[in-house]
Amino acid sequence: LAIFPDRINSRGLNMNIEGIRAPFFDELKELATKTWQGGPIVGGRFLTTGNANTVLSPQDQGQRVGQIYFADQATVELAVGKAQAAFKGWRNTPVEARAQALEKLADLLEENHTQFISLCTREAGKLLQDGIDEVREAVDFCRYYAVEARRLMADPQKLPGYTGELNLLFAQGRGPFVCISPWNFPLAIFLGQVAAAIATGNTVLAKPAEQTSLIAHLAVTLAHKAGIPADVLQLLPGDGATVGATLTADPRIGGVCFTGSTETAMLINQTLAKRQGAIIPLIAETGGQNAMIVDSTALPEQVVRDVVRAAFQSAGQRCSALRVLYLQEDIAERVLEILQGAMNELSVADPALWSTDVGPVIDQDAKAGLEAHLAKLIAAGKKVIAQARLGKGCDKGFYIKPTALEIGAISELEKEQFGPILHVVRFKAKDIDKVIDDINGTGYGLTLGIHSRNESFAEYVAQGIDAGNAYINRDQIGAMVGVQPFGGQGLSGTGPKAGGPHYLTRFITEKAITNNT
Ligand code: GLU
Repeated sequence: LAIFPDRINSRGLNMNIEGIRAPFFDELKELATKTWQGGPIVGGRFLTTGNANTVLSPQDQGQRVGQIYFADQATVELAVGKAQAAFKGWRNTPVEARAQALEKLADLLEENHTQFISLCTREAGKLLQDGIDEVREAVDFCRYYAVEARRLMADPQKLPGYTGELNLLFAQGRGPFVCISPWNFPLAIFLGQVAAAIATGNTVLAKPAEQTSLIAHLAVTLAHKAGIPADVLQLLPGDGATVGATLTADPRIGGVCFTGSTETAMLINQTLAKRQGAIIPLIAETGGQNAMIVDSTALPEQVVRDVVRAAFQSAGQRCSALRVLYLQEDIAERVLEILQGAMNELSVADPALWSTDVGPVIDQDAKAGLEAHLAKLIAAGKKVIAQARLGKGCDKGFYIKPTALEIGAISELEKEQFGPILHVVRFKAKDIDKVIDDINGTGYGLTLGIHSRNESFAEYVAQGIDAGNAYINRDQIGAMVGVQPFGGQGLSGTGPKAGGPHYLTRFITEKAITNNT
């Protein structure tokens, strides 16, 4: 069996180095006023036939980022036909060629990083640091799945058999894969899904989130430059109700990879169950109701540093983000006092400024929903522990004040609040089993944070809570490819985990050939 070189994760940008920092900020400045164009890319052609939508920045509704065309039914139909026609050729292309195209894409992403970082701040309202991390993660996904696909697919697995009988197990692509991705990781999750499907020999129909289709357009353009054939990867921006629903109902597709809300995942599941055609996999990565449990042995300063990052970085718009902080009562006052101080220092401002800690939320609906949630809790008498101030210019965009408030238990929350709102619950040491039951009772199981210097306590909680990713004595966001395979259980997703060694297995079908020679 061939042995393949492994890879290492990319490093991102080291802003302490003047030679990196200065040209980066110069280029960023030039890109700050650029107007982008995007839309469906079918058979390698950018089509401008559907509805044109103006893209305004979530941080400043006066800032025009560009224009995006949404695919209509005829465009979707055309793309599915091409993806189906191209499938067998791509499936039979040696995995080495597929892997090399993805590795080339990773190199091109690194060469063009500033364009993506600029668009991440302008189209998605993400911080510069978040944008840097997005490019890094997208690069890692491309290289990781290239290596994993070689491992899984380069040679068939030889299995035992009777004398004279040769048994070989082959892994191969399933068909046109529908990849539906979210706006909160408009590059990393978009390309992570695409890279996994392409590496394993599927063709791809990619539907990015409505809010961040320009980033997806730029990524697909680069993917084609990297050598991924036009009909193998097609882009279909549009809304879920038309493009997403049409794609998932199509009998010709071979699988669906989805990241987004639990409700949408359930709708897709129903569509797949009712449609004609083969029985196909749904790989879903959905929401969470993530908790952190802090016992009295924890170090309060370290807890607060990690809470602030987990709850408020990316404006709390990560499915891994901390929503409910459980503090053992003996340590609660001390932690909350430091948390108030830290939240007072948060800079809520333009995400394109290096000094900003918290940027806007994605759109008016998100802002209104989060504000309604806060108003409801406050009207119900819940105490606000701390609230950060909005900085200059925040009135131009979709900003909400990062807020921490105290509630009685996680069960009081109806659903995940996807923004910078932290709920705090105090608990008594003797009630830890009840706390574990309450958290498991939500049905979600994505991330869990634990702060404790008591190893057996940390171990007990980590084993007791059904979370896909548990982190002890650190924050619970920012899973790294190949290091912390990411994904949840229960209402939080189907698995297998993105950036983990089993992810590609759901994108393939297996074929055993027995030859009685
Ligand atoms: N992988 C990301 C993290 O660990 C979260 C992905 C998501 O929000 O969907 O923070």
